[in-house]
Amino acid sequence: MEEDLIIGIDLGTTNSLIGVVDSGFPIILADEEKERLTPSSVSYLPDGKILVGRESSRVRTLHPTRSIDSVKRFMGRPASDLTAEELDSSLLTFKKGEADELSIKIDEELSVTPVEVSAEILKRLKRIAEDALETEVHRAVITVPAYFNNSQREATKLAAEKAGLSVARIINEPTAAALAYGLDKSDEHSTIAVYDLGGGTFDLSVLQLKEGLFEVISTAGDTRLGGDDFDGAIADFIRTELNLDELTDAESVTISAAAREAKESLSTAETHMIRLPFLRDGESFELEMTRDQLESILTPILKRTRAICERAFAEAANKGAKAIDHLILVGGSTRTPLVQRKLKEWFELEPNISQHPDEAIALGAAIQAGMLCGRIRQVILVDVTPLSLGIETFGGLMNVIIPRNSTIPTKAGEMFTNAVDHQKSMAIRVLQGERELAKDNWLLGEVAVPFTPGAKGKARVGVQFSIDSDGILEVLARDTETGEDHLLEIRNAAVDVDDEKVEKMVSESIDYAFDDMNERILVEARMKSAELLPAVESALEQIADRLSPEEVQSIKEAADAVQSLIDSETSDANALKAANRNLDEATQTLAAALVEAAFDAI
Ligand code: ADP
Ligand code: MG
Repeated sequence: MEEDLIIGIDLGTTNSLIGVVDSGFPIILADEEKERLTPSSVSYLPDGKILVGRESSRVRTLHPTRSIDSVKRFMGRPASDLTAEELDSSLLTFKKGEADELSIKIDEELSVTPVEVSAEILKRLKRIAEDALETEVHRAVITVPAYFNNSQREATKLAAEKAGLSVARIINEPTAAALAYGLDKSDEHSTIAVYDLGGGTFDLSVLQLKEGLFEVISTAGDTRLGGDDFDGAIADFIRTELNLDELTDAESVTISAAAREAKESLSTAETHMIRLPFLRDGESFELEMTRDQLESILTPILKRTRAICERAFAEAANKGAKAIDHLILVGGSTRTPLVQRKLKEWFELEPNISQHPDEAIALGAAIQAGMLCGRIRQVILVDVTPLSLGIETFGGLMNVIIPRNSTIPTKAGEMFTNAVDHQKSMAIRVLQGERELAKDNWLLGEVAVPFTPGAKGKARVGVQFSIDSDGILEVLARDTETGEDHLLEIRNAAVDVDDEKVEKMVSESIDYAFDDMNERILVEARMKSAELLPAVESALEQIADRLSPEEVQSIKEAADAVQSLIDSETSDANALKAANRNLDEATQTLAAALVEAAFDAI
């Protein structure tokens, strides 16, 4: 027995499912008939037997007043809360008990509460799991609609306890759906709309991702709108087409079932043959239905969901949520192609339907359960800097401070000095990119650091880059002499870069690697020449007399070679580098003579 195993349950109005994380993956468990959906139906037979799921659905026509469907509608509600319509539309007999407690009267001896009925469904699910996993199960994550109030949630917990399951966590159905779609990995503050059209209820929830957790921003729905209404409208169509008025209860049940079958088949087929064998007085009926006919029947019903969506979207926008980033469809009824088409048409959003709509919630519950019992390793996705960050240095070169792919948060810095005499300030240009030259990278921001003018190399400015866990880059430039700080804050840009742009930048840096490198060597060589030439000139002026004419000649030639390469604005970096090296070597004697001259002067 696995003591800490937790399973995930979608306790639905029409269907319930159970899932678990196995070898790191969430799966939905099937019963002995290989079925994964358990109808949320419970029948209390006169002999005391209790049938649950498909077994209960099968006997429903025989015991209409002993079969309870859609008990979820009554969970956690006081008896006085039930509307006249609810009482009328049901074949069940309701009772109001002590403290306004609602119960359903099966017969003179037996009354059951919604919690007890739900507990039967949960017991059945627990058994399916135990058979499939060959181990006992004691803990569960259970989903409830986002709009469930506290007493509805408490009732769900109580039902679980009655079924021998302790509730590890109650989570919202839309949250579970979003988990199943992996949207907990989407961008911070992503807005997610979950359109859930089940058997008898419609819910639209808008969620926002905040620090890896989903927050329900708004919900709207209709507790009397779903696939059952589709079935009812199709049944009316069948009855009219076949001229069948005044249906008996049995006929009505048979036609409803045929209607549902037609609806589900037309989600994939273009036409469907409705067959009603021996329906009335031994007479059989047949009727062919097309997808087009179905769609014209469903359109008016479906339109009712539009206004509800708009209401929830508007409320979310009022609360500051940005436009919908992801629209996901759950609930068996969203398998109807018309639903997907209409949503696209109304909201210009491409719905994500990559998960089975009737399994997504259970899958999400299983994922949550897996996280709680450690069957899913919480992979912490660390953010990395997609591109290098640095500053422009003298000569227009990129000086990388934080390299590409550094994990954040991170911090790095460097010391810079003034490149020319009497410079009054240093411009810190913050760059992002992989190219060698500053101009080919992106400029993120700029700050000027003033300092006391001095000789070249005297002023020292420390530059520190730090990126916090939110991806905010802070550039601090400090004049080390005065201790004065200059701050530059760059939000998001440092970490949030479009994947395509990153790819382009990286591939260009590879394409141009050779040219870029040549350019960098050239810039560096020019700077070296600019340093060498005046130094050599002034040294020669001072101490040429200490050298042989040949020595002076060779130094001058080396200097001229460098100078002429500079004058010709050569792009041959290696030639200039070689000329610099040559000049450097030629001045070795010059350097020695300088030292000698210095000693002589003492
Ligand atoms: P709930 O959330 O209410 O428990 P489900 O999400 O399981 O219910 O949805 C059940 C509804 O989905 C039923 O009305 C059923 O007819 C409908 N449904 C299931 N499969 C299809 C399909 N292929 N095409 C259209 N509707 C479907
Ligand atoms: Mg559902």
